[in-house]
Amino acid sequence: MSSASPVVTRFAPSPTGSLHIGGARTALFNSLFARHTGGKFLLRIEDTDRERSTEANVQVILDGLRWLGLEWDGEPLFQFARADRHREAVQQLLDEGKAYRCWLAGDELTAAKEAARAAGHALRSPWRDRDPTASDLAQPHVIRFKGPKNGDVVVRDLVQGDVTFRNRDLDDLIILRSDGVPTYNLAVIVDDHDMGVTHVIRGDDHLNNAARQSLIYQALGWDVPLFAHVPMINGTDGKKLSKRFGATAVGEFADLGYLPEALRNYLARLGWSHGDDELFTDEQAAEWFDVADVNKAPAQLDWAKLNHVNSHYIRLADDERLARLVADVYARRGQALNEPQVARLAAVIGLLKDRGKTLLELADQSAFIFAQRPVSIDEKTSGLLTDETRARLGRLVDQLDQQNDWSAEALGDKLKAFAESEGVGFGKIGPALRGVVSGGHPSPDMGITLAVLGKVETLGRLEDALSPGA
Ligand code: GLU
Repeated sequence: MSSASPVVTRFAPSPTGSLHIGGARTALFNSLFARHTGGKFLLRIEDTDRERSTEANVQVILDGLRWLGLEWDGEPLFQFARADRHREAVQQLLDEGKAYRCWLAGDELTAAKEAARAAGHALRSPWRDRDPTASDLAQPHVIRFKGPKNGDVVVRDLVQGDVTFRNRDLDDLIILRSDGVPTYNLAVIVDDHDMGVTHVIRGDDHLNNAARQSLIYQALGWDVPLFAHVPMINGTDGKKLSKRFGATAVGEFADLGYLPEALRNYLARLGWSHGDDELFTDEQAAEWFDVADVNKAPAQLDWAKLNHVNSHYIRLADDERLARLVADVYARRGQALNEPQVARLAAVIGLLKDRGKTLLELADQSAFIFAQRPVSIDEKTSGLLTDETRARLGRLVDQLDQQNDWSAEALGDKLKAFAESEGVGFGKIGPALRGVVSGGHPSPDMGITLAVLGKVETLGRLEDALSPGA
């Protein structure tokens, strides 16, 4: 690879049933780096585990990436479909004496492993230097890579720096199983080479593989791509992220009410930084992101920060879109809103944006809008509805009936003026009024609450509560 070749990155998930948040960040880094360099970002589905690689599991990955807004270039490549090409590379290595057929199994294999350990190096099969006979060839066997016995291999890693491995510690890797299926390490190399990948950006759990893969690249006479092994994302306790801390999969973050643009911004900032910038646009991220700036230390998922970032994007979000997303939350909770209700939500959600860090919170905070008349009056509110308070709320209804400006601000002023005209503090009116109009749901500032409900609904709810027998 010459330094002038255009950058090609790729994300290569195994479809195991979810798109892990760490994988999503790997995909994001690959996508950002490709955009930063004007290169390409490719997708390869590593579906060689036939049992787990169901269509549904593949779909989860594609949906997760699309939800997150990570579009790849071209069609995804499916690894399993390329097994013939992988076998071709194995054959090349065999033909060139860089791989060998091996019949080592059972007790003999155990003994060879023990002997290798005792001699202080990784497994080398006795078949490395033996010529198989025709009768051997008829027996099931694997094909191993003939790794160098001595010397070092250096993985040039843009995040980890140069990492040196001793060849004696790397065993003669199986590259073709006895059932004719190529192994992961071989398939990855052939695919990355054929896809023209210049930068392999992936989780640091693959750093050891990079050493073996480098040797096989060299044996095949191919350029070794640049590696960037990115550390894991840990939970708040510094340990591996687990469900105990809320969520691990992208779909779960979506269900918890995070916006894709918020998660993108947050994940980009997790383990990478551009000065003190916490909030940035996709364009800025692409302009600033260099994989060489990714931290070597594991990142920690910080829910408070994520919530902060999400709040920011909720405030920026288009009202119509936000209303639809909140309506989806209602639907998941078994309360389908009809179109007029969604439109109503869209018309007022601007007033509620500050009240939710997530879409779930926005659903909680907007539930008062959709309470059915007559709304239920909780015990505390009933206790507040003395004859005196009822009479006062009755006078308020008369005044509100005359009110034309139904903006939150005008209503706030109106309520203040009303309390003054009654010669009482707002505390004598507010709690009862809130209890009556909110139907026991959380509600914002009273001016906002009434504005959100609208005149007809506000007066209706008050009249319901004040009518004799209520
Ligand atoms: N399929 C591997 C995984 O999901 C990734 C391999 C790679 O990126 O080289 O862990």
